Amino acid sequence: MKKVVIHSRGLDRIRAGHPWVYKSQIKNLEKDINPGDEVAVYGEPKKFLGVGFINPLSEITIRLISRQEQELDKNFFLKTIQQALKWRKKFLPGETSLRWINSESDHLAGLIVDDYEGHLVLQISSLGMEARKPLLIELLTEIFHPKGIYERNDFPSRTLEGLPMIKNNLYGEPPPGLIEIKENGCRFLIDIIQGHKTGFYLDQRENRIWVGRLAQGKEVLDCFSYTGGFAISSLIHGAKNVLAAEFSEEALSLARKNAEINGVQSQWSDFLGNAFDLLKTLSTQGRLFDLIILDPPSFTRRKASIESALRGYKEINLRAMKMLRDGGILVTASCSHHIQEMLFQQVLVEAASDARKILLEIHRGTQAIDHPIIPAIPETHYLKCFFYEVRSMN
Ligand code: SAH
Repeated sequence: MKKVVIHSRGLDRIRAGHPWVYKSQIKNLEKDINPGDEVAVYGEPKKFLGVGFINPLSEITIRLISRQEQELDKNFFLKTIQQALKWRKKFLPGETSLRWINSESDHLAGLIVDDYEGHLVLQISSLGMEARKPLLIELLTEIFHPKGIYERNDFPSRTLEGLPMIKNNLYGEPPPGLIEIKENGCRFLIDIIQGHKTGFYLDQRENRIWVGRLAQGKEVLDCFSYTGGFAISSLIHGAKNVLAAEFSEEALSLARKNAEINGVQSQWSDFLGNAFDLLKTLSTQGRLFDLIILDPPSFTRRKASIESALRGYKEINLRAMKMLRDGGILVTASCSHHIQEMLFQQVLVEAASDARKILLEIHRGTQAIDHPIIPAIPETHYLKCFFYEVRSMN
């Protein structure tokens, strides 16, 4: 196997389990290394760190896959996929729509595999994994016996690795128009080909369950609703009514269908448009709710825009806090890994102070367990979701 030697700077992070080797860390490369090759990484000429895939074009030049001196062959992938499977079977027994493989969290940097009732959806974000696509298809077919495998490789960060954006059927049946999945007593229709990500925000599963637990008898506002995940979960678990806000017409029309198939359309209303505007309008009208959910998209994908993202979080949270009846519940999420939990919480405390409210924490949620967090890889912890009772200051 070809060898790469890296500088001592940043070595501790890698030794502790972080799989990324940046371009600036590389001291020397053996000749004839090709993009996508398997390489062995050494901290000093003799200190072995791991094996991974290299892409000289990418700032994250090597993604380590194993810490043992071994070939990343079919047998290795089989073992690693089976380990990921075991984790899900242990913590989500019987779940039929879930994420089987979550990239770095499953020691398979660059590979995501979701399952919607036997339809697998693949996302590949590294050249090394892309080059091994035929092997991955072969293994996924052997292990999961899926109805089909579809690739949703149409996300922009692929270009950082020099990879094209594609959507394509890779094996078996192409995804049917809509697939129905079940989650905590709710039914959801998923559009694998047109939906966001691979079709559904599977990472919010546990937070939707928590919302269901708190929804009984409540008037609910679900902002950034997508296909109605939190809104439907509230209604199925006893909410009085919901207002769902979403600016994607396709997502909202699927949310309405979801309300219908769950038989809750009589308690459903929605707003097609910008949630920032809706919050402004409703607060000037003096509308009040018992439970408000804020699940915005990542306001920042870069470190440079953290400040403006924080302003965005503060604005929506401040408005929401003012629109809750006394003792109402705010469920507020951030999915940007650049905004760490403490920083997010600090913004929420500032918003509460401006609104003359005090927050009592009911629950602190994160991404669902099929998106495991590895503390040695901080980027694997991206979703924060706080559940607060919001009281007026007295
Ligand atoms: N809560 C959802 C996931 C939300 S993802 C669930 O559980 O499935 C964020 C959603 O916000 C996306 O659907 C996106 O289209 C929508 N969105 C982004 N910016 C928006 C805005 N300014 N106003 C309304 N919706 C917005």
